[in-house]
This record gives sequence, structure tokens and C-alpha cells, in this order.
Amino acid sequence: MSTTATPQGVWKCSECGYTVTAQLPPQTCPQCKKDCEFRDVACYTPDCGGPGNIDPRLK
Ligand SMILES: [Zn+2]
Repeated sequence: MSTTATPQGVWKCSECGYTVTAQLPPQTCPQCKKDCEFRDVACYTPDCGGPGNIDPRLK
């Protein structure tokens, strides 16, 4: 069993809403090129399919 895999987070730019799937949020947003805050919007429940299925409550 491989339970040691590092879970990927889904990060959303607070400026433009761009989402990135990575272990850690990027320092600079690839879209708006700003030093903006990325928020973790990953959904960890089984119902959510991951990156294409971001929790709508987290905007
Ligand atoms: Zn951005």
C-alpha cells in the first residue's frame, strides 16, 4: 500500500481566481503575475473529484 504519497492541494489565487494543483502554492500567480495570496480550495471528501470539482462554498 502506498499511503505515503503527498496529497496535492488545490490553490486558488485570491486576485484572479486562477487555480493551481500543487503541494504548495506558487509564490507568484502564473496568470496575474502578482504576489498574491493563494487559498487552499482542495476538497478532500470522496464526493469531490479533485481539481475539476472545487468546493463551490470556497470562493
Ligand atoms: Zn492571480
